[in-house]
Amino acid sequence: MLQFPYNKKDMPDNTIEEIKSRLDLVEIVKEYVQLEKVGSNMRAPCPFHAEKTPSFFVSPTRQTWRCFGGCGEGGDMFDFVMKMEGVEFIDALRLLAKKAGVKLEKKSREERGEREKLYELYELAVQFYEKQLQASRKGKRAKNYLIERGISSESIKTWRLGYSPDSWQSLSEFLISKGYRRQEVIKSGLAIKKDDHSYDRFRGRIMFPIMNTASSPIAFGGRVFEGDDKTAKYLNSPQTPLYDKSKVLYGLDKAKMEIRRHGFCILVEGYTDVIMSSQMGHGNVISTSGTALTDQQLNILQRYTKNIYTAFDMDSAGASATKKGIEMARKKDFDVKVIDLPEGKDPADLIKEDPEKWKKAVEEVENIMEFYFKAAFRGKNPTEPKDKKEIAIELLPLIKRIPNSIERSHWIKKLAEEINVNEKAIVDQLAKTESKEKKENIKSGEVKSERKSRKEILEERILSIAAKKPEMIEKIENVTLSPFSQDIINALKTGKENQLKEKVDYFALRPIEAEDYEKEMDSCIREIKKENIKKELREAHLKIKKAEKDKNKKELKVLTEEVYELSKKLQEF
Ligand SMILES: [Zn+2]
Repeated sequence: MLQFPYNKKDMPDNTIEEIKSRLDLVEIVKEYVQLEKVGSNMRAPCPFHAEKTPSFFVSPTRQTWRCFGGCGEGGDMFDFVMKMEGVEFIDALRLLAKKAGVKLEKKSREERGEREKLYELYELAVQFYEKQLQASRKGKRAKNYLIERGISSESIKTWRLGYSPDSWQSLSEFLISKGYRRQEVIKSGLAIKKDDHSYDRFRGRIMFPIMNTASSPIAFGGRVFEGDDKTAKYLNSPQTPLYDKSKVLYGLDKAKMEIRRHGFCILVEGYTDVIMSSQMGHGNVISTSGTALTDQQLNILQRYTKNIYTAFDMDSAGASATKKGIEMARKKDFDVKVIDLPEGKDPADLIKEDPEKWKKAVEEVENIMEFYFKAAFRGKNPTEPKDKKEIAIELLPLIKRIPNSIERSHWIKKLAEEINVNEKAIVDQLAKTESKEKKENIKSGEVKSERKSRKEILEERILSIAAKKPEMIEKIENVTLSPFSQDIINALKTGKENQLKEKVDYFALRPIEAEDYEKEMDSCIREIKKENIKKELREAHLKIKKAEKDKNKKELKVLTEEVYELSKKLQEF
């Protein structure tokens, strides 16, 4: 049996070898990247940095991979999965062990870390809820409800749907009987602390387990199903050490292969939409679990595809959040298309009515601009001058944002035709229009000068490395940074990065192409120190000018010495 450590270095070599011997790196890479054969090797454009000429090589004989282009990354199948899935070693290990059919031995409870225990707790909770759905009286009603909605028994198994009993303690007691402490159950988010006791978070709900990309359950969505208007229809797990809703896409673990095969993913709103669509053969479906599409989710998604078909109710209350998500995706160079749903229907409804209707809707997917055009013209009379103007105000910022000039000119022409004005008028107005995002940025006060100073660029690099490799923070001790950067460094240093989580995540996720982080960090620090001295020099020169003007000889002498010292320091670099 094999051990279950956190880090690769703690792992007995024969365990890794055992898994490696059962799997082929080429097959693993092929799940993500289209490889072509060159001699005895395989190659592809590097999935870890943007490039046109393929410099990512896989050696089938050595079972290693390396990028000889910009990023210089490389390693074995564990390194590849960690990087590709953006996961820790332990998650890559689970994923590959599962694939290899290698069973990992569990350590005693005391030996295991928090994450491992949480994984096990969630697995137990899924099993508990599954059993309740199949066996308990009310659970069976929940199951019938699902079946009436069109979800098959097979899908219930595949998606591991369950039922949380309508009582205060049943899950907590079950987990405690399995050796967990009450405190751990609370920490998992499955129980809520109240004074000196606690109660189950999910009660009387149909349970949808949310999996990570390695298909391990890490959270739940719970839905009420019997007429109770007082409670929220959906309830989701809170943030835990395993679960951050802004980084998880529901169904991605099952959809990823299908997404690659189809070359696009369908983004829907609800769990049942994902399940129903997958059940009828459109398996490339995912949903955000109760959030608008986030930047981090897009970072994950782009490992699989740059093409998104959305199937949202775009006129509903959540429409503006949805649109924001879509615009964020377009900005990140995703190609977004819109599946037009009949009013008030979601994909699950449509599929239940007739799977062919969903198939057809997917086939008739619209360009996002076509969709915006339809929305802008809805309820307007394009012969009325006032309506013409309103339609143009709606569409011009969206047209302005299209990066490709041929495509942009296509929509200018279309708008001119449809509101019956000449193209030049549109082009003139376009020049006066600020692209929507610029406007929004100004509104939120976020507009920054486009050109960053050299020091800003260097500081950003340092932050990216520090967020990724906190052990290097002490190197920055004596470097003068901007207050913005210093805040982040202080948060990282004191372990309070949660307070600045978004900023830390932002930098942690920035691509840093460095062979050797330490070397890169040292070089950035050296350059920043140089920049700081140059700044002091510039200031000293200004002061000298002033002292000359004031004929302040004493001051002039001090300043001249200062300049001399600074110049000497600068030369030492
Ligand atoms: Zn690369």
